[in-house]
Amino acid sequence: MADLGDWIARDAAVVWHGFTQMAAYADNAPVIVERAEGRELIDVEGHRYLDAISSLWVTTLGHHIPELDAAAREQLDRVAHSTLLGNGNRITIELAEALARVVPVDGPHFLFASDGAAAVEQALKIAFQYWTNRGVAGRTTYLAFGGAYHGDTIGSISLGAGGFGTDVFDPLRFPVLRAPGFDDPHAIEVAVELVARHASELAAVVIEPLVQGAAGMEMLPAAAFAPLATACREHDVLLVCDEVATGFGRTGTLFASEQCGLRPDIMAIGKGITGGYLAMAATVASERVFSAFLGPDLSERTLYHGHSYSGNALAAAVALRHLELFEEWGVLANVRARAEQLRALLAERIAPRAEVRAIRQQGLMVGVELAPPRDGLRWGRRVCAASVRHGVLLRPLGDVVVLMPILTSTSEEIEHIVATLERAITEGTAE
Ligand SMILES: *Cc1c(COP(=O)(O)O)cnc(C)c1O
Repeated sequence: MADLGDWIARDAAVVWHGFTQMAAYADNAPVIVERAEGRELIDVEGHRYLDAISSLWVTTLGHHIPELDAAAREQLDRVAHSTLLGNGNRITIELAEALARVVPVDGPHFLFASDGAAAVEQALKIAFQYWTNRGVAGRTTYLAFGGAYHGDTIGSISLGAGGFGTDVFDPLRFPVLRAPGFDDPHAIEVAVELVARHASELAAVVIEPLVQGAAGMEMLPAAAFAPLATACREHDVLLVCDEVATGFGRTGTLFASEQCGLRPDIMAIGKGITGGYLAMAATVASERVFSAFLGPDLSERTLYHGHSYSGNALAAAVALRHLELFEEWGVLANVRARAEQLRALLAERIAPRAEVRAIRQQGLMVGVELAPPRDGLRWGRRVCAASVRHGVLLRPLGDVVVLMPILTSTSEEIEHIVATLERAITEGTAE
């Protein structure tokens, strides 16, 4: 049997990992997963890791869930994939009907894609063409926020605020109007002013409702968002909510827009849509937006955009079963109970520490911001590495340690995550 070192060498020889310096990859003790059970990942040597980042924010119910496995197997016995360009697939229809009952969008229509970034890209193109189709000229720009992250395609990095070493792409980014990030309590106020002043140029406002995840879990109170919806309505600007990270229960409601009192014209969903099983995302358009694209066959009102694996049947089967389980298992009630437990434990054991600057939490999305005494200490990286050594998988955003427990976590697992973090902070911040 090949050992871990062999697998890491084979990996480094042929796989190019995203957001990873490959020259250092093998030396950074990567975990090489072979299988999983529940909320634990198991590596090629049988070591177990509690997945406290939900496999980078996608896993909802857990890994290797018998019901989801069965849904994939049953769909395999019918068909794995057939194109949605001009034709339909039964399971994709059933999924869209089920999603339509729960998304906070009026008269929703679903344009499927495979990644969150593509769902955002689709939202940008739909918003742009919406105005063209209506015969309104000049609506060619977008309002986005400081700290925003919407994925890594050129359109989504243009909306994004940059960072993560992506400044190299600045010459490719198209300009957008930018409101402050959620670390500024006046972000929404400024955005409302910008909407009023620039409405005639704006195709859409694009926002991550409630939580800016990649910004380091920056948050605003739910009540802060309503004025933005009002401004968009009054000035006739489309509102796009990017719920790729916040969707599917992460913040304590199925979608964060519900808490914020937002009913977006367009919504992007992804990550948790299949419970973390398969690559699927979707752009959800309201009836008002969708109907602007209706016209004669082959006319220019058509949305000429599509992806090969749009509405993939295997992914749709898992996503449909996932939605049912969410209800059957009372997942949201567990999210709220575990979130309260986590909040209390963090307040008691982590917040008082001198190494910690701030803790931000909404549901089971948490950022523990460390306070290194000077630059270059890489506390975030070192604390997470210490945690992984003790069997709890974490990954930082700079010096913010992200905790994103799987939504079905037990109270023992939440205790274990916090106890391990406590120990990891001590070890990772020692000189
Ligand atoms: C992860 C993320 C995306 C991009 O999704 P991918 O599936 O990684 O392309 C977009 N928006 C937000 C808010 C995200 O967190």
